[in-house]
Amino acid sequence: MSKFLLLILAVVAVWWLAKGFRRKDAAKDAPEAAPEQMVNCSHCGLYLPQSEAIAEGEKFFCCAEHRRRAG
Ligand SMILES: [Zn+2]
Repeated sequence: MSKFLLLILAVVAVWWLAKGFRRKDAAKDAPEAAPEQMVNCSHCGLYLPQSEAIAEGEKFFCCAEHRRRAG
């Protein structure tokens, strides 16, 4: 009888470990990069990533031409 209990314990332990490893893998595969901040051009209203926009004070522009026209 004790061998039967040990077998059950072993199965439960293996199942619990496998579940733990799967959860760790899922967390590893999850995307970590946050979506880039989007801004819109103060002249034409075009939406673009902040890294590609031209900043002028608190305003953003899609290109140098629109920044010049707004100024
Ligand atoms: Zn623009």
